[in-house]
Amino acid sequence: MFKELNRFNTDKKCSASTIFKDECSNKIVKAHSVSKSSSLKEIAVDGHVLTFFMAQRNTDYTVLEPVSVGINKASTFNGFCRVHDKKLFSPFEDNHFDLSSYHCFLIMYRTISRELFVKESCKGTFGLVKEMDKGKNIFEQMYIQDRYRHFNGSNDLTINDLKNINLSLEKVLVSKDYDQLEHVIIELEIPPKVMSSSIGGMHFGFDGSLIQEITNDPMCIPDYLSINSFSSNGKGYIVLSWLNEHRVSNQELIKTLIYSNSISDSLLMLIISQTENVYLSPQWWDNLSDKKKSDLTELYKCGGCQDTYNDVLVTDVNYGAFDYQNVKYLYTE
Ligand SMILES: [Zn+2]
Repeated sequence: MFKELNRFNTDKKCSASTIFKDECSNKIVKAHSVSKSSSLKEIAVDGHVLTFFMAQRNTDYTVLEPVSVGINKASTFNGFCRVHDKKLFSPFEDNHFDLSSYHCFLIMYRTISRELFVKESCKGTFGLVKEMDKGKNIFEQMYIQDRYRHFNGSNDLTINDLKNINLSLEKVLVSKDYDQLEHVIIELEIPPKVMSSSIGGMHFGFDGSLIQEITNDPMCIPDYLSINSFSSNGKGYIVLSWLNEHRVSNQELIKTLIYSNSISDSLLMLIISQTENVYLSPQWWDNLSDKKKSDLTELYKCGGCQDTYNDVLVTDVNYGAFDYQNVKYLYTE
């Protein structure tokens, strides 16, 4: 069981090998999905940040409070070879983020590479669940098989969607036609206290309205949103990106963000509820009240072990995680 649960940490492959196989190095590196040098260092205390993310924890899997993780390990996945990790991402890793559609595209490409890597690693874990009904009574067997179908089915659906989106991004990577994507860049005065990188389909807007129905029909791919929160050159950024063909619900979502009570706190709700790959400033977390800590921990469970309600992104609490400064649209309505 532990071998399967640890597959996220032991699987290795270069995500760029499907298009640039001849260039690949044999050496797979631990690629950071949130930059270590420009981002995680900004919020670390003694080289550590906090995370809820299970696969990067060494401690008790049953506790859902954030735990400390070293920034060499935080946010990493074994999803690129040495050559491609450097070649593809050095434009914004070795230089400052320049708010261009090119940099935003690279960030989304890395985000989806990581998400696909994680979801494919999960398949073995779900296979394990399927085998766990042996020797159980008939009702327990039915329950276990039902849970297996539920989790494995939705994981397979997501993999299918992500593969489709990844194919579109690979075409852009080759053609350099960065206009195939749309982005919103939220500029923050200082580095964010919460950093993350993820992609998913949003059900609800920041006003509680239904943004899109997400069905189990494999032919019906929902509109996906890539979410990244990071810092560069002493400032903070939250970059939201999507493919042109996913513009309808995402542009609608952004409208509800702009009219929300607080852009900063609304975005925190989005990141905590939608993202597992999330890293917190220990200093910021320690200074939150117990109520705020437990509310955020409950929010993190959304979509995982709890149902998500329509008001999931609605808040009037000030958490102080982001200092909103400005919004920049890399699209036209
Ligand atoms: Zn490679």
